Amino acid sequence: MEHQLPQLPYPQTALEPYISSETVAYHHEKHHRGYVTKLNELIKDTEFEEMELSDLILRSSGPVYDQAAQHWNHSFFWECLRPATAAAPSQTFIQRLRENFGGLEEFKLRFKETAVSNFGSGWTWLVQKEDGSLEILNTSNAENPLRVELRPLLTLDVWEHAYYLDYRNSRADFVGAFWEVVNWDFVEANLELKRPQRERAFNRSLPSTDSRRPH
Ligand code: MN
Repeated sequence: MEHQLPQLPYPQTALEPYISSETVAYHHEKHHRGYVTKLNELIKDTEFEEMELSDLILRSSGPVYDQAAQHWNHSFFWECLRPATAAAPSQTFIQRLRENFGGLEEFKLRFKETAVSNFGSGWTWLVQKEDGSLEILNTSNAENPLRVELRPLLTLDVWEHAYYLDYRNSRADFVGAFWEVVNWDFVEANLELKRPQRERAFNRSLPSTDSRRPH
């Protein structure tokens, strides 16, 4: 089974001026594609060759895990973004953030502090724990929260390749701009609410090689 680079759910220019088309082009066409290509090379003629991406995340290790997780993380990251609009989270989701972090602004501040303090390369996540509560956490390199049974709702790539062209060394400015292009509908749809349609939304967000929607 050959893993495929998913198409972006929007044009490369759609995130400007917050994330430039040059950054999106390099990030998607070079970096993300590189992980997919390496993953396909690594799994060829191995026990991992026919495994779904989400299974690879749970069952592989070492270089296969690194490439598989980077492929999953990037596919999820693209879906977490959308062209800049004035759209805010729903009142229901803001209430969830209030219960867990004190409010939307408090959540954003804490997420930013966490992202800025992620040493080296990695990802910053909003996840849902098994008890339903929400948490902000950092992972290093390719590491994915599914591995420790946490449900990703939102992620931000804080590898330098995600922002260096636009923001140079200022990760904090990148995080500030990120809020302008967050797809809150997607984030909220990833919540487990024990409602079938929500469940399907999350499953769609798990990239598989044959179910990416065209655009
Ligand atoms: Mn990246």
